[in-house]
Amino acid sequence: MRCPYCGGEETQVKDSRPTEDNTAIRRRRVCNTCAGRFTTFERVQLRELIVIKRNGRRVPFDREKLMRSVSIAVRKRPVEPERIERMVSGIVRQLESSGESDITAETIGNHVMEGLKGVDDVAYVRFASVYKNFREAKDFEALLGELSDSDGEGMASLSSRSANDDD
Ligand SMILES: [Zn+2]
Repeated sequence: MRCPYCGGEETQVKDSRPTEDNTAIRRRRVCNTCAGRFTTFERVQLRELIVIKRNGRRVPFDREKLMRSVSIAVRKRPVEPERIERMVSGIVRQLESSGESDITAETIGNHVMEGLKGVDDVAYVRFASVYKNFREAKDFEALLGELSDSDGEGMASLSSRSANDDD
């Protein structure tokens, strides 16, 4: 494993342990050349996945990218990071076992929306509004309508946030 700081080829594993949900091994490494420290993850990959973007471009599936977009949606929400880890692992496992190697970005987005719906209403709406690329208020209202089983509290805080939340 090449050192990300100096490019050195010699690195040592200092510590190796499973992640909390036991779906990966986390390894702390240190570079013999510059003493830089970094972490690598070893995960099960059942198959190589290709994502077909909306513009037709094909790119290799990237778990970290998916993790990042979900993390943005749950930012500052009371959601355990471990829960998000598990949700993303579950989605990846579902995609890998679907029998298809080519997955549309839309399919992935739908899985994430389905997952977030059960985790946090606000995160769900945030993700959906980016993913569905809303341009009109009525799109937003239609989505809020889908959350009919919510107690309304999450939505009330969301609409008061949207007026002054600039992050
Ligand atoms: Zn180094």
